[in-house]
Amino acid sequence: MAAVAEEQICMRCTRPVALAPEDYELFERMHGVCFHYDFEHDADVDADCGVPGCPSGLLPPGAPGPAAQQALADVAGALAGGWRVEPQGPAELLLTRGGDVVRVLVAEG
Ligand SMILES: [Zn+2]
Ligand SMILES: [Zn+2]
Repeated sequence: MAAVAEEQICMRCTRPVALAPEDYELFERMHGVCFHYDFEHDADVDADCGVPGCPSGLLPPGAPGPAAQQALADVAGALAGGWRVEPQGPAELLLTRGGDVVRVLVAEG
């Protein structure tokens, strides 16, 4: 872990913050994640609040298994008629149709 200046302590969780000093100030002297939960996250902490990049949201796994990849391929095939389908790595599809943009993430259950 990178060395952290001693004065950069998170106001919310009291742990050291490794952000650049300007980002530390931007996030009200907190971790970016702590700032999100304090000021932006209007939902159960374990639930995705809908803000893009919410830490409680589903993140695509880096290496989905064969079944997950097949499911994603099947979804892409089923949607190919109406949507423009662009794979975004092994676990994610970006769908666009008209002005709508939808991300489909796959994860093992
Ligand atoms: Zn914190
Ligand atoms: Zn959130």
